[in-house]
Amino acid sequence: MVAEDSLVWIDSTHGEYSVKSGYKLLMNVTRKINGGSQQDDWSSLWKICAPPKAKHLLWRISKGCLATRMRLQEKRVSCPLLCPLCNLHNEDDWHVVLGCDASSQARLSAGLDQFLAPFLLQASSVKELIFAICSGTDKELAGLFAMLVWVLWNNRNNVVWNELQDNGRNLGFKARHMWEEWISVQQLQHGARKNAQQQPIRWQKPDQNWYKCNVDAGFHKELNKTSLGWCLRDDRGRFIMAATAWMEGNCSILEGESLALLEALKVLEQRGLTHVIIETDSKSVVDAISHLRGGSSEFSFISCNIKNILLCNPNFKVKFIKRQTNMVAHTLARTAVSWSYRCTFETLPHCITPILNNEMI
Ligand SMILES: [Zn+2]
Repeated sequence: MVAEDSLVWIDSTHGEYSVKSGYKLLMNVTRKINGGSQQDDWSSLWKICAPPKAKHLLWRISKGCLATRMRLQEKRVSCPLLCPLCNLHNEDDWHVVLGCDASSQARLSAGLDQFLAPFLLQASSVKELIFAICSGTDKELAGLFAMLVWVLWNNRNNVVWNELQDNGRNLGFKARHMWEEWISVQQLQHGARKNAQQQPIRWQKPDQNWYKCNVDAGFHKELNKTSLGWCLRDDRGRFIMAATAWMEGNCSILEGESLALLEALKVLEQRGLTHVIIETDSKSVVDAISHLRGGSSEFSFISCNIKNILLCNPNFKVKFIKRQTNMVAHTLARTAVSWSYRCTFETLPHCITPILNNEMI
């Protein structure tokens, strides 16, 4: 069956335009037009260890967007010029971040004085200072500095809008406290993510009364062929059946892997199986089918079929596993090209006997 031609946005995997992919493309084009000259590489700003709101504030300051009283006047907004905290100096970027008495006290109590001293000697503007700090090696202290700037600006706004003022010393403590709290949450989340990612390094039998089907694709560029293989086992790891196929042409990895999955699903459905864990080592296939929207990429026809079968069979569960736990299917797919273009095995094929026996233990 041939799918109708349709428009595909090639700069994303699902074939649909997204603002993000459009922006990326545009930035690549403009960079090329500018001869690759990047006056300032601000990417380091986003790598410092600080909450996004603090990084965002630094970015706003470096882009000249902080609404200080001096800047507001430049934009013809009528407002007083003096710093609302000290009422002694005009309020500009430098004064907010460094010059005001409250800012220097806060710097001291946050424990940043020593860290900032060498930067202060060299920088002639807050923008330069931020750039130097973020490009430096200490991403943690850079993060603490960002948090401090956020606390200072937040306090300034509290003075202006809520008539609430904290002294400089407290602001420094507050910045350190908030930053340390943020860091510990990050570490906790990182640990949790790491645990979740820990997958078994060998093949696991399915739960009682469940079947497991491993699927894989093979890509044989030199033969101009794409192959697939899958193997079904019961809850004791015993062989039930396997199948292989190959076709002419070099499919993309996503197409090949999803074709392998589709082929297996069709047979499982035909055989009337109801509880099956289907394992693939292709993360992009699992991601693609878990996106419910239709998509219009080259492989959306295959993924659409896969989704339909999964919808009709709620106990067909597709899971991603590491390649080393998918060796049976991998071997079948590799060997497929040396057999006729389509094979079904009701008895255990020799090429996978040792692997399968080993995995039953
Ligand atoms: Zn001031």
